[in-house]
Formats: sequence, C-alpha cells, structure tokens
Amino acid sequence: MTELLKSFPQLCYLAASVLFVLGLKRLSSPKTARSGNGLAALGMALAVGGTMFLPGIENFAWIAAAVAIGTIPGWKAARSVPMTAMPQMVSIFNGMGGACALFISVAEFLKHGAESSDAALFGILLGTAFGAVSFTGSIIAYGKLQGIVSEKQVRIPFQSLVGALLAGTLLFCSAYVLASGDPQAASPAFYAVAAIALVLGVLQVLPIGGADMPVVISVLNSCTGMAAAVTGFSMRNMSMIIAGTLVGAAGSFLTLLMCKAMNRSLANVLFGSFGSKNIGASGPVGAGGGIQREINASETAVLMAYSRRVIIIPGYGLAVAQGQHLVHELDQLLEKKGVDVKYAIHPVAGRMPGHMNVLLAESNVPYPKLIDLDEINPEFKQADVALVIGANDVVNPAARTDRASPIFGMPILDADHAQHIIVMKRGRGVGFAGIDNGLFYDAKTRMLFGDAKATLKELVSELKAL
Ligand code: NDP
Repeated sequence: MTELLKSFPQLCYLAASVLFVLGLKRLSSPKTARSGNGLAALGMALAVGGTMFLPGIENFAWIAAAVAIGTIPGWKAARSVPMTAMPQMVSIFNGMGGACALFISVAEFLKHGAESSDAALFGILLGTAFGAVSFTGSIIAYGKLQGIVSEKQVRIPFQSLVGALLAGTLLFCSAYVLASGDPQAASPAFYAVAAIALVLGVLQVLPIGGADMPVVISVLNSCTGMAAAVTGFSMRNMSMIIAGTLVGAAGSFLTLLMCKAMNRSLANVLFGSFGSKNIGASGPVGAGGGIQREINASETAVLMAYSRRVIIIPGYGLAVAQGQHLVHELDQLLEKKGVDVKYAIHPVAGRMPGHMNVLLAESNVPYPKLIDLDEINPEFKQADVALVIGANDVVNPAARTDRASPIFGMPILDADHAQHIIVMKRGRGVGFAGIDNGLFYDAKTRMLFGDAKATLKELVSELKAL
C-alpha cells in the first residue's frame, strides 16, 4: 500500500503525459480540438494533483492559495476574452509559463545551490535563461498586441552590439556558475544570468512590430516549452519534461510554418535581426494617390449571384465584426444559386495562427471549403469575384513588388488575379503592418464600405430578395 502511495505521483505524471499527447493530437482539427483541450486540461489537473503526494509537500494551504490565485482569474479571463483578443491572452499565458520556469529554477538554485550536479545546474541555468527571456518577451508582445506598447518598431541604438554583449556576458556568468564549486561565490553570477535574460527578452521583442509578430509569438512559445522541459530535467519531473518538450516542439514547428508564411528565414529570426526588414521602412506608404471606387450592397449581391466562382477572403476585420455566421449564410445562399464558393485562408490572417479556421469553424463552415494559400492562389484567375472581408495585409500586392515595403516577400493571396475584387472594410484604415494597399485602387476593385457584420446582413437580405 505504501509502495503504491509512493509511486502514485509518478503514475499521475504518466497518465498526464499520455493525456497531453492525446490532447495535442486532437487539437490538430477544429472538430476534435475542444475535446483535445479538455483532455490536456485533465492531464494538467492530474499532474498538479499527483504532485500533492510527493514526499516533502506539506504547505497545502499555500499550494491551495496559489492554485486559487492562478485558477480564478485564468478561468474568468478565458471565459470572457473576445476572439480577437486571443493572441494577447496566449502571449500573457505564455509569459506566465516562462515566469514559472524562471521561479522554479531560482528556487532549485536556492535549495541546492552550486553544489548540485553539473547536469542539474546546467538545467537550472537553462531554465532560468529561457524562462526569463520568455517571460519579459511575452509581456512586451502582450503590450504590443494590446496596444499598450507601440506596435511600430522601436529603434534601439546599437541593438545588435548591445544584444551580443549581453548574450556574451550571460554565457560567461553561466560558465562561471558551472565551474564554481562555491555556492556563495556563484550566486551573484547566477542572479546576473537571470537579470540579463530578463533584459534580453525586452530587447529582443521591443524592436519588432508590423507583420513579424506571428513569428515572435511562436518563437516565444517554443522558448517557454524549452524552459519548462529543462526545468523538468533539473527537478527530475517526467511530466514537466514531456509537457515542456511537446510545447517546445509544437512551438518550433509553428515557428517554421510562420517563417514560411512570412518569408523569413529561421536563422534570421533566431539570431537577433527580428523585424530588421521593417526598421526604417517608411511608415504608411501612399499607393500612388489613386482613387477608390465604391459599390453598394445591392450591386454586389447581383454581381455575386450571377457569378460562377466566388472566393471569400476572410481577415482580421471579419473577426472584429463577428460576422462569421452571416458569411456562412451568404455562402449557402450563393451555393443555392449554383455559385461555387470557397474560402481562401492565409496562414497569418487575423491575429493568431489558425484564427480564420477557428472563426469559420465556429459558424460550421465545412472544413474542406477552407483552402490554404498555395492551393487557392492558382484558382483566383478563374474566380469571377474575390470577396475580401476585413482583410488587408494578406492581400497587399506590395508584398510582391515593393522592396521598401515592410511586408515585402510575404506570400499573399492573389485576390488581384480575380475578375472582380470587392473589398469590405469600414473606411480607409490600415491593417496590422500600418501600410496602404494598392489593391484598393486597382481598376478591378470596388470598395463596399461599412462594418463587416452590418454589410454582410445587407448582402444576405439583398441575395434573398433576388
Ligand atoms: P489586417 O490587420 O491587415 O487588416 C484588417 C482590416 O480590417 C483593416 O484594414 C480594417 O480596415 C478592417 N476592419 C477592422 N474592423 C473592421 C470591421 N468591424 N468591419 C470591417 N472591416 C474591419 O488583417 P489581415 O487579416 O489581412 O492581416 C493580418 C495581419 O496581422 C498581418 O499583418 C499579420 O502579420 C498580423 N498578425 C498576425 C498574427 C497571426 O498569428 N495571424 C499575429 C499578429 C499579427 P478599416 O479600419 O478601414 O475597417
């Protein structure tokens, strides 16, 4: 019986790890994502519950207070957060993960000091550095996405030099801690590692803005995963190692996908030239002083009803307007009239990876109708209408042609290849990258101004009346 009780935490960790893997697997499709999230949450509850049975755990009141402090605001925030504020939420949660790894590593150092084995000390140092970078980096990313910190790039004088000096000092202090056998002598160097890593997190993310944010978010995500995994090594906690490795690996894959979507090399992202392409770009770029031609809902409805192929391009504005249910209704009405309707999904449309997939899944748009960029782009030439709803940067042709543009090189949806382009937006507002869009001045483009939800409502009623 006592043997069973002794191995109970390890059994919980094993079950939790299996649930994390199954949960992650189910997150790969919108249909199963909800249950996947539930499984992973159950895994986390088991991991926390199992920890209570570890020898030496006594301060249950403190633990209960910490669980309550984390659970209550987390639960409330997750229930009330609007879909469009999800990236900020992910960033702040990510930052909390980094802070956990940092504090656990510091606590481990205080407990065992420099007397720990080299391997454990190495884990503690890595957990401290990754955790601290991820913590402050995520907080700055949160501030940018929330509009508290300027979205535009902040130029830091001699940023590369300062970054290299700090990184060099961090490595030197880490080596000193590892080489020293005296905890008293090693602790200032250890705290210097933590402090420098905190500053590096701020320095790395502060200069980034515009369209590079998705890459930053996914890099920070993998950084937190790695921090948790190495902290798990130093604590010999199997569950943390597995969960951290899963997050780190998933974050790394996401980084690669985001790099591909933003046309940035991983080396460029990892070695400190974040956003360099954007720095010095000339702010809102005029699109040649052309004119934007308007169209009304009734004309748009007629144009689409007599089309053969319509491609809908959803963007951030659709999410803000919460027009996803009306888009689906519009799509169904058009299909009834014999129009072939597809959705073109850009990997960084909206404000988080997969934002448009999640948004449209919410309104039960069949998943096979959501077509990825590579597959849909050749189809625009045959499309009668490209209906751009609240998207801007992801259809900006400057990404192909304008070397000075902050989004130059980013693959875009080829809306401009369609016969007609209808752009639904409220006015002349810019997108996330803060630049003008030549597509809006194209001779084939007509602007349908208004809030996306209100305009979609009008379009739906016009179509019903036809
Ligand atoms: P954009 O941010 O480029 O443009 C959104 C457009 O929607 C704006 O021009 C705005 O114009 C319009 N809009 C806003 N509210 C409404 C509304 N209620 N009704 C109608 N239109 C509205 O969006 P995209 O999806 O094209 O591009 C995403 C951008 O976000 C990219 O630059 C990407 O790099 C970046 N990003 C993406 C992340 C991700 O992971 N997906 C994370 C962080 C950033 P107006 O004001 O005139 O209405």
